[in-house]
Amino acid sequence: MDNLDAIVKEALDLFAGIDDPDQLEQAKARFLGKEGALTGLLKGLGKISAPERPAAGARINQAKESLESALRERREAIQAKRLEARLAEEALDVTLPGRGLGVGGLHPVTRTLERIEDLFRSIGFEVATGPEIETDFFNFTALNIPENHPARAMHDTFYVDGEHLLRTHTSPVQVHYMLRHAPPLRVIAPGRVFRCDSDVTHTPMFHQVEGLWVDEQVSFAGLKGILTDFMQEFFERDDLPVRFRPSFFPFTEPSAEMDIGCVHCGGSGCRVCSHTGWLEVLGCGMVHPNVFRHVKVDSERFQGFAFGLGVERMAMLRYGVNDIRLFFENDLRFLRQFN
Ligand SMILES: [Zn+2]
Repeated sequence: MDNLDAIVKEALDLFAGIDDPDQLEQAKARFLGKEGALTGLLKGLGKISAPERPAAGARINQAKESLESALRERREAIQAKRLEARLAEEALDVTLPGRGLGVGGLHPVTRTLERIEDLFRSIGFEVATGPEIETDFFNFTALNIPENHPARAMHDTFYVDGEHLLRTHTSPVQVHYMLRHAPPLRVIAPGRVFRCDSDVTHTPMFHQVEGLWVDEQVSFAGLKGILTDFMQEFFERDDLPVRFRPSFFPFTEPSAEMDIGCVHCGGSGCRVCSHTGWLEVLGCGMVHPNVFRHVKVDSERFQGFAFGLGVERMAMLRYGVNDIRLFFENDLRFLRQFN
């Protein structure tokens, strides 16, 4: 018992110098473990005379408690120190500027395509696709453009080899579709087309949407109604004026060009509409009986109308873009305006 104070002092000094939790547990065992110094004293209580025993027991217990509370404090201190070190090591400078993940957006041509598809889907048209490399038959002959027809020269065709070419319009899709589906049918064919041409309003690749409606009661009046509704919906103007002018396409008879009132000047005349107040937006007409003959549709029983429009042209008019090449340069300053 004479050593008790010395033992406590030794233990407290030892604990205070330890920075590692494992070492601290080992130090604890030296005093409070099975073979520990304080445990030894407790075991030796029996040898002390009965009158002195309670006081001795109380002193040992007090010593034990003071060691245990010192251990607790030391453990907490070690933990706090480690946490502090970790925080210092993993410190973030929250004042640094962020990495700035950019928000992407759909390309204006994609947006326009989807808008056109949605509008036609809403009135029951299906969407069909076809190959971009076509044979001469599907691109020309089946559409009533026989060999040596002057319209072939107008198309500025990219030929792949003697028989294959990059399609110059999406009209071949209507031929494919009619060979696989019997009328009545209502379909649009959006896609890429290719022509050897490049300036402010032409690119070698652009997008077209071809439309076709074949049934027993299809008329030119129906064609005018659907296309007028479509243009007014597309440009979000109920009072958008339209007009149809007689025209010529080999695959339709009669054929027409559709104009809309200039969406820039409202019809008073500007550079966009070449001071005419009108914008040419689409070609259309009643399907030529020769086209029906190639796809084995009875032209005595069925009539059809077809139309084709340029997607980039529609996007340019809707968004006020004056150079078609901007769509394909992928300049972010341009594209971000459509996010
Ligand atoms: Zn105008």
